[in-house]
Amino acid sequence: MSPKTKFIITLGPATESEEMIGRLIDEGANVFRLNMSHAKHEWAAEMAKRVRRQAESRRVHIAVLFDLTGPSIRTGDLETPYNLLEGDVVEFRKNGIEPTVPLSTTVNYDGLMGDVTAGNTLVVDNGALLMRIDKVEADRVLCHVKTPGTMGSRRHINLPGVRLNLPALTEKDHKDLALAVGCRADYIAGSFVRDAAHVRELREAMKALEGESQIVAKVEDQEAIRNIDAIIHEADVVMIARGDLGTEVEFEELPILQRRIIKRCHELGTRVIVATQLLESMISNPTPTRAEVTDVMNAAYEEADCLMLSGETSVGRYPERCVEALVRISSRIERSGGHGFGQSALLRDERQKTARAAVTLADSLPDARLVVLTRRGVLANHVAMLRPRTAGFYAFTPTERVCRQLALTRSVRPFKLPFSSSIEETIENVSEMLRKEGLVRPGTPIVIVSDILSDHFAANSILLHHA
Ligand code: PEP
Repeated sequence: MSPKTKFIITLGPATESEEMIGRLIDEGANVFRLNMSHAKHEWAAEMAKRVRRQAESRRVHIAVLFDLTGPSIRTGDLETPYNLLEGDVVEFRKNGIEPTVPLSTTVNYDGLMGDVTAGNTLVVDNGALLMRIDKVEADRVLCHVKTPGTMGSRRHINLPGVRLNLPALTEKDHKDLALAVGCRADYIAGSFVRDAAHVRELREAMKALEGESQIVAKVEDQEAIRNIDAIIHEADVVMIARGDLGTEVEFEELPILQRRIIKRCHELGTRVIVATQLLESMISNPTPTRAEVTDVMNAAYEEADCLMLSGETSVGRYPERCVEALVRISSRIERSGGHGFGQSALLRDERQKTARAAVTLADSLPDARLVVLTRRGVLANHVAMLRPRTAGFYAFTPTERVCRQLALTRSVRPFKLPFSSSIEETIENVSEMLRKEGLVRPGTPIVIVSDILSDHFAANSILLHHA
């Protein structure tokens, strides 16, 4: 049986062949991510097609997620990388400005000098190099190196705790967004989302292009943490982007933040992804380290919707083994139960309270299955957030796109089914599909919860049926 935890697999040179994509689906991949920081447009469009073809040929629902680069600050081009020693003075200057010290690079963000002050920490290349800012002038920032290392071209810069006035979306993001909408992306992720307004801006830009994607907000800095509730309210899904977040906070804070964000997402009813370095050593090794096994197990125990692999599958040597490891570890911990944050979900309206009643009923009946009839997927997501414990949880929806989007939602297995005008017929069709798939036996109790409107079926109904 597939685990309840879902898996997002980043595609790259190691996994771009159609055959490999098919094999990763067979191993247990639910969502494929195209990282627009690296992907060329033609390549990304081709990958989206390959994923769709492979999913269709297997008659499974798989989502495609376009991950936008976002407004990251980067060093300029250097002829040769600098080997920096402790105490070295390094300059970051605006484009077109002459260097004043030998170790000098441009930055791609002219607002930097206005946002930082002396005493701030500047982190290069995800923590590979730490510097302290000593002097801020109109066109340059001067730092000294605190931990030595090498600084190359276009390296990523983090400024922990600094409130940056970067835009939500860059010109490149707008172009990538148009591509994502053109490819009918199921999800679009905004990087370095710092407040709810950034999520709204992305959603509005997507809608202006007539897109129907759902929005993932990548939480990767302290500003986003300060605004976390508003971001969780605004986004369809939150991603705990531990790569960047881990350079923004002291490392011992990261697991605490992860747990808090997951809990808050459960409370507020927003899906949540744990990303980055889950199986980092498997980029070059065939088995995970003990620490990685524990990290994956912890995220599955916290009942995140999805776990995400990046370099492990985009450039790693063992992509299939990585997915197999996620499946094995998650399945194991799911057999012994999860954290139970679903119990603290805040029930704000009648629909959510109906969902709770259906989950309570299904959980209390031995060997019951839970079925949601859903047009837009909203009710299915509400039910999933309550973390039902039934052996099977299925969503039936007439729309292919909703099926694909539910590929990211914990524990639910989506089925495409046109709804009949008669509820009896719809329920019979549901039963028949579940029987055909071998998911129920004659007499299996099925708790059906629905907010679809039809002549015979009022909104927010719960029905107990036997297969
Ligand atoms: C991260 O920082 O953890 C992350 C997922 O973002 P990126 O796209 O930079 O890998």
